[in-house]
Amino acid sequence: MLNSTVVGRVDITPELMILQVKPDGGVPSFQPGQYVALGLPGSAPRYEGAPDEAEVPAADKLIKRAYSIGSSPAHGDFFEFYIAVVPNGALTSRLAVVQPGDRIFSQPKVTGTFTLDGVPAEHNLVLVSTGTGLAPFMSMVRTPTVWTAGRKITVVHGVRYPQDFAYADELASFSAQNAGFTYLPIASRADASFAGRKGRVQALFEDGSIQLTPETDHVFLCGNPAMIDDLERDLTTKQGYVVHSKKTPGNLHVEKYW
Ligand SMILES: Cc1cc2nc3c(=O)[nH]c(=O)nc-3n(C[C@H](O)[C@H](O)[C@H](O)COP(=O)(O)OP(=O)(O)OC[C@H]3O[C@@H](n4cnc5c(N)ncnc54)[C@H](O)[C@@H]3O)c2cc1C
Repeated sequence: MLNSTVVGRVDITPELMILQVKPDGGVPSFQPGQYVALGLPGSAPRYEGAPDEAEVPAADKLIKRAYSIGSSPAHGDFFEFYIAVVPNGALTSRLAVVQPGDRIFSQPKVTGTFTLDGVPAEHNLVLVSTGTGLAPFMSMVRTPTVWTAGRKITVVHGVRYPQDFAYADELASFSAQNAGFTYLPIASRADASFAGRKGRVQALFEDGSIQLTPETDHVFLCGNPAMIDDLERDLTTKQGYVVHSKKTPGNLHVEKYW
C-alpha cells in the first residue's frame, strides 16, 4: 500500500512544510499544474497535541488527499509538495510528523486540468495564489519550456504572516534574472514592522497594481476558495474573462483546494 519514500522535508513554519516524495517506480510523467493523491494509513501517528478526531479512521484505512506538485517534470527524481497542516485534518495531522525515510502512498496516476494546455505560447501568465496554492505555480516557473520568448509571467503570493512566504528567495531570484518576471508577495496579517505589501491579493487587482489584457493574459487562481470566488466574479463580470473548462476553453483557470 505504501509505495513511496519521503526523501526531504523543509519546515517553513510549524504549520507549513515542503515535502519531497520519491515513488518506488520513479516519478511518472506529468504537466506543471497537475496533482497526485498522497496517503497514510489510519494507524500513522498524529502530531503531539492534535485535537481528538471526531471519527477515528480504521488502522488499515488509507487516508488520501490531493496535493499539487510543486516540482518540475524537467528536474529531479522525486515529487515536491507544499502542504499546510490543518489542525484537525485527517491526513495532514499525520503528514505533520513524517520524516525523511518514512514510507507514504502516492497515487501512481497524476491528474488535473489546471495546466498550460491550450494556452498560446505567446500569451502572458498571471499566476495568483494564496498559501499552499503557490505549489502548481512553482512547478510552472521551474519548467524551462514555460518561459517562451516574450512571455511575461507574474506570480502573486498571498499569505497571512510574512514568515509564510515559502519560496521567496527562489522567486526573487527569478525576478532578478528575468525582466519579464514579476513576483508580488502580499501579507494580510503583517504588523507595522513589515516593509512589504500588506493586504489581500484582491487589493492588487482593485488598485491597478495588476492590469490585465484579457486577449493576451491568462489568469490562474489557486488556493483559498474565498479568494477564487471574489476574483472569478470580478474578472468575469468586469473584464470579460471566461472560466476555462475542457468543453469551453477560456482565459481564467481555477483550482480550489477546499
Ligand atoms: C486539486 C487539489 C490540490 C490540492 N493541493 C494542495 C496542496 O498543494 N497543498 C495543500 O496543503 N493542500 C492541498 N489541497 C488540499 C488537500 O487535498 C486537503 O484537503 C488538505 O490537506 C486537508 O486534508 P486533511 O485530511 O488534513 O483535512 P480534512 O480532514 O479532509 O479536513 C478538510 C477541511 O480542512 C479545511 N482545509 C483544507 N485545506 C485547507 C488548507 N490548505 N488550509 C486551511 N483549511 C483547509 C477545509 O475546511 C476542509 O473542509 C488540494 C486540494 C485539491 C482539491
